[in-house]
Amino acid sequence: MTQFAEAKKYIAGGVNSPVRAFAGVGGDPVFFKSARGAWVETEDGRRLIDYVGSWGPMILGHAHPEVVAAVKETAANGLSFGAPCTLETRIASMICRTMPSIERVRMVSSGTEATMSAIRLARGFTGRDKIIKFEGCYHGHSDSLLIKAGSGALTLGIPSSPGVPAALAEHTVTLPFNDIGAVQQAFEKFSEEIACVIVEPIAGNMNMVPPVAGFLQALSDACAAVGAILVFDEVMTGFRVAHGGAQAMHGISPDLTTLGKVIGGGMPAAAFGGRADIMAHLAPDGPVYQAGTLSGNPVAMAAGIATLTALQEDGFYARLEARAQQLTAGLAEIAARAGVPLATEYAGGMFGFVFSDDAPIRHYSQVAAADIGRFKRFFHGMLDRGIYFAPSAFEAGFISAAHGDEELELTLAAASEVLPQLV
Ligand SMILES: *Cc1c(COP(=O)(O)O)cnc(C)c1O
Repeated sequence: MTQFAEAKKYIAGGVNSPVRAFAGVGGDPVFFKSARGAWVETEDGRRLIDYVGSWGPMILGHAHPEVVAAVKETAANGLSFGAPCTLETRIASMICRTMPSIERVRMVSSGTEATMSAIRLARGFTGRDKIIKFEGCYHGHSDSLLIKAGSGALTLGIPSSPGVPAALAEHTVTLPFNDIGAVQQAFEKFSEEIACVIVEPIAGNMNMVPPVAGFLQALSDACAAVGAILVFDEVMTGFRVAHGGAQAMHGISPDLTTLGKVIGGGMPAAAFGGRADIMAHLAPDGPVYQAGTLSGNPVAMAAGIATLTALQEDGFYARLEARAQQLTAGLAEIAARAGVPLATEYAGGMFGFVFSDDAPIRHYSQVAAADIGRFKRFFHGMLDRGIYFAPSAFEAGFISAAHGDEELELTLAAASEVLPQLV
């Protein structure tokens, strides 16, 4: 029996998160056994160059010695306290210093918890129910946000999930990403009913789609005009596209920010934070309730602190971005020579590629119209040659500090064999 068949006997769908099941590319998922640097080893003993990086957290590469040492040392002193510890204050101060829009922060255990709590806080603070989100953006799987969502929901063709009560869904207004006119119309229509706008400032859950000029500023202006809260979901982009996240790159200061992925360094840690006056509405200071048995878990905090410390190295993001640029430019060049239309994007350690002749990709409709069949053949052709990209056309890719010349050369050599076969 295959590993996947065995898993399916006990685990719903054989996986603990849907995209892992390879539904977006066909075939059985690869089971990982260990990972180091830019490489993973599978249960079958194959070594693969990994461009998923656990979907974003592994920005330093897998099993980074300083992160692993911090985890071991902290774990030896107790796995969970359920009481305050100074590691929580340390990571919180690192986050607040790096992202000036965050005056106070609260640690949680997953990006889903972070966005769910930020939405509740925005509703509690404003006394309003309506939220605005964008098609193809993914903000975790809480009820209010699983409407026209990206990521696995998009891959599996269930962007609006059954099980979300209609009474709740009607408070979520979904607009096309990067459509300033649609935002203005929605604000004219709903005005002071709007509690918040939540957006991925660089969309990474429908492949990778950057904001058009003026889009984020328009959101900020529209929110300010009616007293709505602007929430940047930087669970993916925070400490990933730049040290200060997409908000630093684009010079916009949101009211609230959600973080996850990189800040846990591979352990379950996430956060939401922002303006002190808004955060003061959170229990115990205020009436909006939010809590977590494992929130601020010392081992997760230690992994996060070690990761964020390594990211402070001079030129870290410039080097990372140079790699992402080399990779995407290399793929684009090989594709062009082969006559295969390929649109590419990168920012910091994040990249995207879409089989489409409609570059630049700025709208969900363009991603939806891309050649998915070609993506599937590319994915499997590369996997056969030892290169592991995300098993879905609707996900961003991630590069780490451990991806060097050797990995880049091997990847482009594989692409030189695979892309010409896709004509
Ligand atoms: C991954 C992600 C989430 C959800 O985080 P989990 O830790 O998987 O719950 C939310 N928002 C964005 C933008 C993400 O990329």
